[in-house]
Formats: sequence, structure tokens, C-alpha cells
Amino acid sequence: MISSSLKRFCKSSIKKCQWSPIISDEYLHLPDVQSMIVARIKDRRLTAEILDLIDEIYPWENSLKHIRRIYNSEIILYPSKFPQPISNDLFEKYFDEQTREINVPKTPCLAKWQYDQCIQQFWPSLVFRENKILEQMISKKKLNENDEIILDLLHKIQDDDEESHCAIIVDNDGQIPLVGSRDYRQDHPLQHSTIVAIDYLSKTSFYHRENLLENFIEKSQKKKAYLLNGCSIYLTHEPCIMCAMALLHSRISTVYYVKSNDRFGALGSIYKLNTLKKTNHRFLVYQLEDLSLDEVNN
Ligand SMILES: [Zn+2]
Repeated sequence: MISSSLKRFCKSSIKKCQWSPIISDEYLHLPDVQSMIVARIKDRRLTAEILDLIDEIYPWENSLKHIRRIYNSEIILYPSKFPQPISNDLFEKYFDEQTREINVPKTPCLAKWQYDQCIQQFWPSLVFRENKILEQMISKKKLNENDEIILDLLHKIQDDDEESHCAIIVDNDGQIPLVGSRDYRQDHPLQHSTIVAIDYLSKTSFYHRENLLENFIEKSQKKKAYLLNGCSIYLTHEPCIMCAMALLHSRISTVYYVKSNDRFGALGSIYKLNTLKKTNHRFLVYQLEDLSLDEVNN
């Protein structure tokens, strides 16, 4: 834990803020939709017969299994522009005269908010299983006391220069700050604060010695395979591609940053490297954002 003297030293100056997750676009908007024709069944006792008939005309493929075809007395027949609609005779036998057009999501809903909106706006019977871990990952979260202390420390490292890029790496166990760094890119193009912090940690911690003194490390309880295993980083600015990749390769667990970087930002602004599906390490990213008036009052 951070000592009480450190807490006193770091008098919080953070406004009412929260952490907003940087997540893949697929969680930020509703799925694409396609238009379908819906008819009302005249006699529900014939539902099985109707299903057999409709399945022959327009089989319910696996790609549509996230949509339940029947809801109450209504059934989804086929796409609005289907070339071989049902014959008039059969239609009159099984369905009310009036049909209607609805939209259905082309792909399954991934998040609860998408499901809630889709069943309200489109078709009320969709298959959805809530994933609690995912819901937590895509939700905003409150700052805790340690976050505020680290952000205060970052501010102090900036030394009244708001444009100065600074970083603090924290051990997740007990939220202990391991290293704080500034940016020296004016002296060397690669010396961004993130790289400086990783580099410094690699020189001063056992992590680095893993490669050089393997025998020593093997005896250590603290052996870790990568530089930033079990660590988070707090940054004044969204990292560039080089720094984001360095964090990925170092196996960072979480990145917190204050300001976005509209020109070079690789974790939200220009790219979202943390959401790439083919990387061999996934990590969480949060940006600091002001609470809205409603959120403050809650
Ligand atoms: Zn950078």
C-alpha cells in the first residue's frame, strides 16, 4: 500500500472524473440490420406446419440463429427483397392479409445495451447471453483513491508544464509506483516517456536480470516472464504507435491516460492497438474523462 505520508504529500487536485474504456468499435454501435417481411399467423395450431413450409422457402441459416423466427403470433418469412415469395393461395391459408417490414440485426448482439436497443427498436425476440466480464470491460469506472494519488504524482512530474509527456508505472499488487519518467524526445527521438519508464524499470528491476542472470532469477519467487507483467501505466498523454507497441510487447495489464493525442495516438485516437484481435497480448486501456453533470449528481 502507498504510505500515509505519500498520501498527504499528494494532495488531490483531480476534478470529478471517471475512466472511459477504449474499446473495439463493435461494442460502440448497433449491429447492421437487414429488412425482413413479417406475417401474422391466423391459426397458431398450424405453427409447426407453417414452419415446415417457410423453412423450405427460406431456411433459417446458422447466420440467423441469433434471431428467434417466431414471436407471439408473428413469424419472419424472408428478406424484403426475396425473389420467390409465398404463393397467394398459401398465404391466405396461413396468414392475415397484412404483412409488415421489420429490421433484424445481421449479427448477434455482443453487449447488453445493444440487445436492449435491438429488442426495442427492431424485433423483440433475439438470442442473447450476457457476458459479465465483457460488460465490466466495456463499462466506465470510477477513480479510486490510488488513481488520484498517481494522477497527482504525474502532475507533479510535469512540473507546471501541461504539455510535458510523463509516465508512471505501477505494480498492480498494492498499487505501488515503481518508476516515474519524463519525455526526452528533444534529445533523442525514441526517448518518449513511456519508453524511458520501461527502460528504467528494466535496468533497475529483477525483470531485466532474467535474461542476464538466469540462475539467480530461477531461485527468485518474483520471476516474471516479461517486463511489465502485473503492472499498469499512467500517462499524461495517449501513447504513440511506438510506445503502444512497446507496452504490448512488455505485457502491460492496463494503460490509463489523461489527454488524447489526435495526431499520433495509437490507443483510441488514430488506432486502437489494444483491440486488435491477432496480437498475442491483450490489455485494457482507459482515458480520463470529465463526468457529465448528471453523473456528478448521481
Ligand atoms: Zn511515444
